[in-house]
This record gives sequence, structure tokens and C-alpha cells, in this order.
Amino acid sequence: MQNFRFQTVPLIINETGALARLGEFIQQEFPACRRLFIVSDAGLVSSGILQAGLDNLDQLGLLYQLYAGVVPDPPEAVVLLAAQQAREFGSDLVIGMGGGSAMDVAKLIAVLCGNDQALSTMYGINQIRGKRLPLVQIPTTAGTGSEVTNISIVTTGETTKMGVVAPQLFADLAILDASLTTGLPVATTAATGIDAMVHAIEAYTTRHKKNPVSDMLARQALKLLFNHIDRACSHGTDLAARQAMLLGAMMAGQAFANAPCAAVHALAYPIGGRFHVPHGLSNSLVLPTVLRFNLPAAAEQYAELAEILAPDATGSAEARANAMINALADLALRTGIPTRLRQVGIRETDLEQLASDAMQQTRLLGNNPREVSWQDAYEIYAAVL
Ligand SMILES: [Zn+2]
Repeated sequence: MQNFRFQTVPLIINETGALARLGEFIQQEFPACRRLFIVSDAGLVSSGILQAGLDNLDQLGLLYQLYAGVVPDPPEAVVLLAAQQAREFGSDLVIGMGGGSAMDVAKLIAVLCGNDQALSTMYGINQIRGKRLPLVQIPTTAGTGSEVTNISIVTTGETTKMGVVAPQLFADLAILDASLTTGLPVATTAATGIDAMVHAIEAYTTRHKKNPVSDMLARQALKLLFNHIDRACSHGTDLAARQAMLLGAMMAGQAFANAPCAAVHALAYPIGGRFHVPHGLSNSLVLPTVLRFNLPAAAEQYAELAEILAPDATGSAEARANAMINALADLALRTGIPTRLRQVGIRETDLEQLASDAMQQTRLLGNNPREVSWQDAYEIYAAVL
């Protein structure tokens, strides 16, 4: 048996309607905490879907300040501003409520309020030295899995993104409540769901740190996501389908937090960085082509996943792997989200820059089952154009 480490969030509450009991959970798990800093975005706050949670905090006499300034691809300045407000409020607990951006910002605020280290010295792997405030994460999309990962992505320059990866970023509590996700549009449901599937697939085939626990989670995540994504798209208010998607996305998050992502994400990040295409859609765009590129190195593993994604496939490992890739490509077509780079405003003259940007993602590329050169990255983008 191989040696490995597996780490995750110690408490996960999977309960439709749990948001309305937020204050109860806080009192149970963090009895000393009285001043809560809630990190979210303006769209969510104005939608009113967070209200049940806020009402419960009011009823129980818990003070909170709501920060609604998170934006997609959050810039460093937003993190610093929010952390400043959290300090001024005297926060003793941080709650992230939103998609990956809000939860990523919440992680860093909890760290920045917990010690005096400067954010600029935290980028990279295991660079955080001190402790953080208690941290609760409540996702409102079924995709990033950020509620159970130890990664926070920040936009540091015009288009550059940097990651903070450290065990302090694992939350204390994650709450999965499908009632927060029923208002998501079809395209967001599809793209975020496919992103979660990419997390599971890349964790399952990662060159380093793949282990029996991450494999088990990746397979179960794929099963939940693939079997419920059509229903979640066609019947957005189906709470059972939505809860299954949240659970699947969380399990995929647990898998890739321990067995990290690879070339699909490496090629997706530049699309998001330069063209502000949402993270899930960026991944979905390059997914089938990157998997086809990986086939010579990963056919056996993809064939194993075909048991879930293309159960009727027969023949050689390569044939079953191809069936699995086709099933994923069909999924994007079926849900009607863009499948070509041109559809999101990318032109042929952009591809060289995208390929160069992708080569900067060395943390991810090193995990890919097959080595990716600049020329390979360029050809993958060209094939998806
Ligand atoms: Zn992702």
C-alpha cells in the first residue's frame, strides 16, 4: 500500500434548508463567537436568498456584518479592503456565502484577521505561518468545491492570477443547502457542474498524490454529478437533484484538494484571465480536447471512469475512454453552453498568447498524465477555436 496524506474539512452538514439554522450551527460549533463577518457578492445579497440565514442570526442575537463587495476573479484590493472591514468590526468568525470567489476571499480574510502576515507573502504553497479565525463556508453554486479546498485564487495583476495553497485554508465547517442553488440559470448550472466533473476526472488521473481515498471520492462525485446534471438544468427547482449536485461538487473538491488538478485547468485559467470567461465554462470549453490529447497516457484510467460516464461502452480501453470523452462533449452540447472559443470572443490571433499563458501554470501542468508543450497547448486551443 502506498503512503499518502488526506486532509479535509472536519465537519460537513449536507441538509436542504440548513441555511435557516445557521445561527444554531454557529452556537453549537463556535460557542465563543459573537461577531460574524459574512463575505458575499451584491447579486446574492439583493436576491434575498441569504435572508433565512441572516434572520436566524438575528433571532439568536449573533451580530454580523455583511460584506457584499466580492466580484468574479477577485482582485487583491478587494481581499485587502474586506479584511480591513472585518478587522474594524472586531470579527471573531468568517462566513463565506457564494461561489468560488466569495469563498476564496473568505478564506484569506480569516487568515488576514488571524495574524499579522502580509497577503503578498502568502502566495505559493504552504507560505502561511500563523493561525486564522474560525471559518464557515456555504456554497451557492455546485462547482468549485471551494468549501472543502485549501486553495484561494486571487487576481494580482491585470490578468495574472496567483494561488495561496495552505492547510489553514481548510474551513472548520461547510454547509451544503440546495435551497441556495435553485435560482441558478441553466448555463451556470451546466458550466459549474462540468467544472466539478473536471475536478473529479483530473484528481483521478493526476500524476502525483492520486490515492485510494481521492479515487473513491472522484468516482462517487462523478456518479452524482453526471446522473443529476440534466435534471438540475431542466428542472432548476428540483431540490433533490440540486442537493446531489452540491454533494458531488463537494466530494470532487475533497478529491482535488488532495490529488490536484492538471492540464484542463492549466488551459482554462488563461481563458478566464484574459477574456473573463467564467471558470466553469473555461474548463468545459477545453475539456474534451485535453482529454483526447491525454489518451496515450491515460486511456486505462479514462476507461475506468467510462463505467460511470458511458456504462454501455465496450471494446478496448481506448474505445471505452473515447466513449467517456464523447459523453462529456455531448453533455456540453445538450445543455447549450458554448463549445468553441470563438463563441466567447477569442480569435486565432489570441491563441499564441493563450498558449504562453498556459505554460505559466506549472503547478497544474506538472500533474498532467501527459507532458504538455507550448506547441501542444497551441494545437489544443486551435482545435477548440
Ligand atoms: Zn475548477
